[in-house]
Amino acid sequence: MAVKTVVFPHCTSCNRPITPDMKAVHFTCPNCAKVTIWRCKICRELVRLYVCPACGFEGP
Ligand SMILES: [Zn+2]
Ligand SMILES: [Zn+2]
Repeated sequence: MAVKTVVFPHCTSCNRPITPDMKAVHFTCPNCAKVTIWRCKICRELVRLYVCPACGFEGP
């Protein structure tokens, strides 16, 4: 029996799991381009800062 595990990405700012119905955005880090930054709708609305886990770049 094959068990399919769906791993949702987590919001880089608040660590909330990003579900497909959530209007989240994702983009690669503008500084190192090594990681994908995820931001959920809430963090976008609150304009929270994100910190790149790879290079420590902070952005709005
Ligand atoms: Zn968030
Ligand atoms: Zn980076």
